Amino acid sequence: MTTLDISAFKFKLDPTALQMALQEVKVTLSGYFYAVDFGPGMRPQHHRVDKHRRCSCYLGEACPAVQAVADYLRAGGERAPDPPPGYYPVAPVACPICGAATIFDNSLSSKRRGAGWRCTKGGAGHYWQAQVKVLKEKAAANPWIFPPVVVRGGRQINAWDGIQTGDQVLYSGVPK
Ligand SMILES: [Zn+2]
Ligand SMILES: [Zn+2]
Repeated sequence: MTTLDISAFKFKLDPTALQMALQEVKVTLSGYFYAVDFGPGMRPQHHRVDKHRRCSCYLGEACPAVQAVADYLRAGGERAPDPPPGYYPVAPVACPICGAATIFDNSLSSKRRGAGWRCTKGGAGHYWQAQVKVLKEKAAANPWIFPPVVVRGGRQINAWDGIQTGDQVLYSGVPK
């Protein structure tokens, strides 16, 4: 068997060869990414596609691996998990504060927050604003230091969602 000495870009221009490559392709989940293995006939063989349909190789959105992931999902393949709020597997497509493009900034990367990035308009300031926004949303989602204790539907519960009509209040809780 001859190895096709052909680049991913060539596949883009040769639909028949691309179709053959897509039949051989293996897509697996890798963290928050899709790992795409075209087999040894394709260079580069291994590709990593994020949830925003961008490949980490130089072809980016134009990479055939993006198409392979779309086919895999259409065939019922398992979706890559959503990262927790405030965690960035890669720099976001658009700044969550102003919508401008972002660029990767390794000096802001961390294990807990993932890939650092800065906004092309608002710089690192928008990165930190986005992180603060997430913290505020988390705090808003849990407004209690101690939640109310109520009897609801015949059961005693901690009312993290607050006191509702019809609750029998045993303890009114301490809000933040
Ligand atoms: Zn690629
Ligand atoms: Zn921005």
